[in-house]
Amino acid sequence: MQATLTTQRTITLEELDVLLAVRRAGEISRAELQAQLGLSRATVAAIVSQLVVRGILSEAGIGDSEGGRRPQLFAINGGFGYIVGVDVGATSIDIALADFNNQILERYAEAADVRDEPEALLGRIATLIEQVVDRHFAHPEQILAIGIGVPGPVNFEDGVLIAPPLMPQWESFSIRDFMRRRFPSASVTVDNDVNVMAIGEATTGAGQGVENFLYIKIGTGIGCGIISHSEIYRGRDGAAGDVGHICIDYNGPICHCGNAGCLEIMAAGPAIAMRGREVAESGKSPFLARRLAENHGELTATDVGDAAKAGDRAANEIVNLTGKMIGGMLATLVNFFNPQVIYIGGGVSNIGNRLLSAIHQAVLRRSTSLATRHLRIEFSPLGADAGITGAISLASEHLFEVVT
Ligand SMILES: [Zn+2]
Repeated sequence: MQATLTTQRTITLEELDVLLAVRRAGEISRAELQAQLGLSRATVAAIVSQLVVRGILSEAGIGDSEGGRRPQLFAINGGFGYIVGVDVGATSIDIALADFNNQILERYAEAADVRDEPEALLGRIATLIEQVVDRHFAHPEQILAIGIGVPGPVNFEDGVLIAPPLMPQWESFSIRDFMRRRFPSASVTVDNDVNVMAIGEATTGAGQGVENFLYIKIGTGIGCGIISHSEIYRGRDGAAGDVGHICIDYNGPICHCGNAGCLEIMAAGPAIAMRGREVAESGKSPFLARRLAENHGELTATDVGDAAKAGDRAANEIVNLTGKMIGGMLATLVNFFNPQVIYIGGGVSNIGNRLLSAIHQAVLRRSTSLATRHLRIEFSPLGADAGITGAISLASEHLFEVVT
């Protein structure tokens, strides 16, 4: 694998269009590029040969004939350099090393606490990246791009978390600058974790070709990634999609954001676990009472899901109530945004089909029939992989600096 110089990191808009078209197609001929992009034959030929010389594209096989000579196909040169994806969760970090074709070569995950100081956690991430690169007999300078998803609102331009309720000491800390100091050859892109999951589904999952969709993550918190016209929508300040703090009950409990009755405080993982504990302790759920004893006084949303699957009535009521609350909020989003698909991901989605059907019913009951006419609501097919594949896609999309 050749070392890459940062001076090679600029690209013209037309070159980028060609690169993205090759990425989408896998293998493609000059004539197909010409037809797709509306560029002249000479322009396509010049751009392709330039990208091959730079090592960004490589010659692939020979395509089928369309009358004349069988055409040369071109593909992304996977060996051009490495891309790293990082998914920072509330309790874990997940790292993947990919080639320039976005194919994952190795993954590594370990437990972590985002309440730690940013220098400590990011330093650990940087060390893990160096170790994984070393295992592939490569050098850190061969990392072209690093994409990082973090659990909080992100100022995308600066790579900084803004007022993150889960990680207050990260406020104003530049994740991008820190990682650039450790990996000067890499471009570093930071985004909100749910945006990254939506990007994963849009670029490598079931969301490919779906122009308008929402990705809802239900875990410790609740957030939403918005794909509009095939692009992620971040809003003016990176706060778009923070749906966990939409009020669903003005008399509800106080959320960690300071307001009353937010969806997140009432329907995310901890709320489900708390309701599970109530029915375990009150004797309404023999299943959860047993699980509580087995787990030495701890219960999770997954335990409530297990109880519901086993036919426990109280647990089923909790799952239905949770689905109703989340679905009620989603109905508002559906009326407002009219998405084609809503993908549900995050740890709580492991509860399974009963939760999905409760969400579905609430959405159908409370949205307009026009907005739900073509709507599908399904679990994220990428599931737990959406974050890491999205981080890799995000990194590779922002690898080059476009010059005019
Ligand atoms: Zn809140």
